[in-house]
Amino acid sequence: MKKRIFALLTVLVLSISILTGCKDSAPVSDSADKAAATSAPEIPAKKTSYGANTQAIVDRGVLRVGVKNAVIGFGFQDTLTGEYSGLEISIAKKIADTLGVDIEFTAVTAATRTELLDSGDIDCVLATFTITEERKNNWDFSTPYYTDYVSVLVETASGITSLAGLKDKTVGVSSGSTSAKALTKAMIEAGVIDGAAFDEASFDAATWTTGVSFKQYDDYPAISTALSAGEVDAFCVDKSILAIYNTGTRGYIDDKFSPQDYGVATKKGSDFSAFVESLVTGWLSDGTIGGFISENGLD
Ligand code: GLU
Repeated sequence: MKKRIFALLTVLVLSISILTGCKDSAPVSDSADKAAATSAPEIPAKKTSYGANTQAIVDRGVLRVGVKNAVIGFGFQDTLTGEYSGLEISIAKKIADTLGVDIEFTAVTAATRTELLDSGDIDCVLATFTITEERKNNWDFSTPYYTDYVSVLVETASGITSLAGLKDKTVGVSSGSTSAKALTKAMIEAGVIDGAAFDEASFDAATWTTGVSFKQYDDYPAISTALSAGEVDAFCVDKSILAIYNTGTRGYIDDKFSPQDYGVATKKGSDFSAFVESLVTGWLSDGTIGGFISENGLD
């Protein structure tokens, strides 16, 4: 809102100074004054080239973005200052700056980000959200701005160091994530488990029990606690997310698998999707996103 008022004031001040002439310039005659007045540009009408959904964000004066708050380098909130930082925060702020609006962050989980987007509580999601064919049926995704991989965190004392070590174990995953399917597929491809019953489209982490089984949690701290308590043998998700939980007694297995392309998600069919896509592709080609990736130590 403040930015809009400031922008309007700037246009007004500029227009007034054009109409009245600069104080330091030589005095102008009446007729010159009139000529200047008639040829002076009018205050531009409100920009109308945005689609209706994008214009609604401009009119509101705030871009509302769903982000992670505990993924270092992507979306991380300083608990003391409340400030957010990371690659996804920088991209979100740049979208808001381009629109000339303020920004409001909402911390989301893998399970809540789509509900909040569907309900209209947020305009877009930049939250380590992997682009999948299945998800594309329900939401629009930009071109990927980063690619991560899935990995598995274990207590070192467990002796588990590879996919083979996870045979017949229980793995903690987040509800609404790609992790369980990715791990099952990787174990099948590595020849650790039998894939006869595996069907990509109908896979359900809650019912899969062939060679590995899963416990689903609402958030990542809960999985970390479960790992310490021995409730699960391993914690599986994207490596970027696991980083903060890799404390002294833990380590990753040797394998990383299933590339995870992160995209900006928006409401399906919204004109805001096309607007975001043009920004992301532009910032990928002009090095802006590459710069954010380096700034956050992600390269
Ligand atoms: N990136 C994965 C997904 O979108 C892991 C879950 C998460 O982002 O929290 O499913």
